[in-house]
Amino acid sequence: MNAVSIRPADEMRDLYRELILDHARNPRHFHKLDAATHTAEGINPLCGDKLRLYVAVDDNDVITAAAFEGSGCAISVASASLLTDLVTGLSKQQALDCFAEVTGRLTAPDEYESRDIGVNLDKIRALDGVRDYPSRVKCATLAWHALSSAVRGQSDTVSTE
Ligand code: ZN
Repeated sequence: MNAVSIRPADEMRDLYRELILDHARNPRHFHKLDAATHTAEGINPLCGDKLRLYVAVDDNDVITAAAFEGSGCAISVASASLLTDLVTGLSKQQALDCFAEVTGRLTAPDEYESRDIGVNLDKIRALDGVRDYPSRVKCATLAWHALSSAVRGQSDTVSTE
Protein backbone atom coordinates (compact mmCIF):
# COMPACT_ATOMS: atom_id res chain seq x y z
CA MET A 1 0.00 0.00 0.00
CA ASN A 2 1.23 3.43 -0.83
CA ALA A 3 1.89 5.40 2.33
CA VAL A 4 2.15 8.73 0.59
CA SER A 5 -1.19 10.28 -0.12
CA ILE A 6 -0.73 12.93 -2.74
CA ARG A 7 -2.85 13.83 -5.68
CA PRO A 8 -0.46 15.00 -8.35
CA ALA A 9 -3.14 16.23 -10.72
CA ASP A 10 -4.59 18.60 -8.17
CA GLU A 11 -1.19 19.78 -7.08
CA MET A 12 -0.22 20.60 -10.63
CA ARG A 13 -3.45 22.48 -11.03
CA ASP A 14 -2.62 24.58 -7.97
CA LEU A 15 0.86 25.27 -9.28
CA TYR A 16 -0.57 26.37 -12.59
CA ARG A 17 -3.11 28.58 -10.84
CA GLU A 18 -0.25 30.21 -8.94
CA LEU A 19 1.65 30.77 -12.18
CA ILE A 20 -1.39 32.41 -13.80
CA LEU A 21 -2.02 34.63 -10.78
CA ASP A 22 1.64 35.61 -10.62
CA HIS A 23 1.67 36.67 -14.27
CA ALA A 24 -1.67 38.47 -13.88
CA ARG A 25 -0.46 40.45 -10.87
CA ASN A 26 3.05 41.09 -12.20
CA PRO A 27 2.80 40.96 -15.97
CA ARG A 28 6.16 40.59 -17.73
CA HIS A 29 7.12 42.87 -20.63
CA PHE A 30 4.11 45.09 -19.89
CA HIS A 31 5.00 48.21 -21.82
CA LYS A 32 5.05 49.74 -25.27
CA LEU A 33 7.91 48.49 -27.40
CA ASP A 34 9.43 51.35 -29.35
CA ALA A 35 11.63 48.99 -31.35
CA ALA A 36 8.62 46.95 -32.53
CA THR A 37 8.58 45.96 -36.18
CA HIS A 38 5.18 44.24 -35.91
CA THR A 39 2.15 45.05 -33.79
CA ALA A 40 -1.51 44.10 -33.55
CA GLU A 41 -4.37 44.73 -31.20
CA GLY A 42 -6.63 42.04 -29.82
CA ILE A 43 -10.14 42.77 -28.61
CA ASN A 44 -12.43 40.40 -26.77
CA PRO A 45 -15.76 42.25 -26.49
CA LEU A 46 -17.37 39.51 -24.41
CA CYS A 47 -15.03 40.16 -21.52
CA GLY A 48 -13.76 43.65 -22.30
CA ASP A 49 -10.16 42.58 -22.83
CA LYS A 50 -8.15 44.92 -25.04
CA LEU A 51 -4.44 44.30 -25.55
CA ARG A 52 -1.84 45.57 -27.99
CA LEU A 53 0.99 43.22 -28.71
CA TYR A 54 4.40 44.31 -29.97
CA VAL A 55 7.19 42.22 -31.41
CA ALA A 56 10.59 43.20 -32.76
CA VAL A 57 11.80 40.89 -35.53
CA ASP A 58 15.37 41.02 -36.83
CA ASP A 59 16.72 40.39 -40.35
CA ASN A 60 16.89 36.65 -39.68
CA ASP A 61 13.19 36.48 -38.78
CA VAL A 62 14.00 36.01 -35.11
CA ILE A 63 11.85 37.73 -32.47
CA THR A 64 14.31 39.73 -30.38
CA ALA A 65 11.73 41.32 -28.07
CA ALA A 66 8.02 41.12 -27.30
CA ALA A 67 5.83 43.29 -25.11
CA PHE A 68 2.22 44.25 -24.60
CA GLU A 69 0.01 46.90 -23.08
CA GLY A 70 -3.67 47.35 -22.49
CA SER A 71 -6.18 46.06 -20.01
CA GLY A 72 -8.12 42.91 -19.44
CA CYS A 73 -9.06 40.19 -17.03
CA ALA A 74 -6.47 38.15 -15.15
CA ILE A 75 -6.52 35.31 -17.69
CA SER A 76 -5.98 37.56 -20.71
CA VAL A 77 -3.16 39.49 -19.02
CA ALA A 78 -1.46 36.35 -17.70
CA SER A 79 -1.67 34.72 -21.11
CA ALA A 80 -0.13 37.76 -22.82
CA SER A 81 2.60 37.86 -20.18
CA LEU A 82 3.41 34.18 -20.68
CA LEU A 83 3.39 34.73 -24.43
CA THR A 84 5.91 37.57 -24.36
CA ASP A 85 8.18 35.46 -22.17
CA LEU A 86 7.91 32.48 -24.47
CA VAL A 87 8.31 33.97 -27.94
CA THR A 88 11.38 36.11 -27.27
CA GLY A 89 14.23 34.39 -29.08
CA LEU A 90 11.97 32.29 -31.32
CA SER A 91 11.71 32.49 -35.07
CA LYS A 92 8.53 33.86 -36.62
CA GLN A 93 7.62 30.34 -37.71
CA GLN A 94 8.12 28.96 -34.21
CA ALA A 95 5.92 31.74 -32.83
CA LEU A 96 3.19 30.76 -35.30
CA ASP A 97 3.65 27.12 -34.28
CA CYS A 98 3.13 28.18 -30.66
CA PHE A 99 -0.03 30.03 -31.68
CA ALA A 100 -1.35 26.86 -33.36
CA GLU A 101 -0.43 24.78 -30.33
CA VAL A 102 -2.10 27.06 -27.77
CA THR A 103 -5.27 27.71 -29.74
CA GLY A 104 -5.53 24.07 -30.80
CA ARG A 105 -5.22 22.77 -27.29
CA LEU A 106 -7.69 25.28 -25.90
CA THR A 107 -10.35 25.34 -28.58
CA ALA A 108 -10.28 21.75 -29.90
CA PRO A 109 -8.60 19.67 -27.19
CA ASP A 110 -10.17 16.43 -28.41
CA GLU A 111 -9.14 16.80 -32.03
CA TYR A 112 -5.87 18.67 -31.73
CA GLU A 113 -2.73 16.58 -31.81
CA SER A 114 0.23 18.25 -30.17
CA ARG A 115 3.43 17.98 -32.12
CA ASP A 116 7.01 18.68 -31.27
CA ILE A 117 7.72 22.22 -32.44
CA GLY A 118 11.12 22.44 -30.81
CA VAL A 119 9.92 24.86 -28.13
CA ASN A 120 9.53 24.12 -24.42
CA LEU A 121 5.85 24.75 -23.79
CA ASP A 122 5.78 23.65 -20.14
CA LYS A 123 4.93 27.08 -18.81
CA ILE A 124 2.03 27.73 -21.10
CA ARG A 125 0.50 24.40 -20.09
CA ALA A 126 -0.77 26.54 -17.22
CA LEU A 127 -3.33 27.83 -19.71
CA ASP A 128 -4.73 24.36 -20.30
CA GLY A 129 -6.80 24.70 -17.12
CA VAL A 130 -8.87 27.36 -18.88
CA ARG A 131 -10.45 24.57 -20.96
CA ASP A 132 -12.67 23.88 -17.95
CA TYR A 133 -14.14 27.36 -18.35
CA PRO A 134 -15.26 27.73 -21.98
CA SER A 135 -16.24 31.37 -21.58
CA ARG A 136 -12.62 32.19 -20.68
CA VAL A 137 -10.97 30.45 -23.62
CA LYS A 138 -11.25 33.63 -25.70
CA CYS A 139 -9.52 35.54 -22.90
CA ALA A 140 -6.65 33.07 -22.92
CA THR A 141 -6.23 32.96 -26.70
CA LEU A 142 -6.64 36.70 -27.34
CA ALA A 143 -2.96 37.65 -27.15
CA TRP A 144 -2.05 34.65 -29.31
CA HIS A 145 -4.41 35.77 -32.06
CA ALA A 146 -2.81 39.20 -31.86
CA LEU A 147 0.62 37.54 -32.11
CA SER A 148 -0.41 35.58 -35.18
CA SER A 149 -1.85 38.67 -36.83
CA ALA A 150 1.19 40.80 -36.01
CA VAL A 151 3.76 38.25 -37.18
CA ARG A 152 1.86 37.60 -40.40
CA GLY A 153 1.54 41.33 -40.96
CA GLN A 154 -2.21 41.05 -41.22
CA SER A 155 -4.96 43.35 -40.00
CA ASP A 156 -4.04 45.61 -37.16
CA THR A 157 -6.99 44.63 -34.98
CA VAL A 158 -8.27 41.15 -34.30
CA SER A 159 -11.53 40.57 -32.49
CA THR A 160 -12.75 37.34 -30.96
CA GLU A 161 -16.29 38.17 -32.12
ZN1 ZN B 1 -11.10 38.17 -20.28
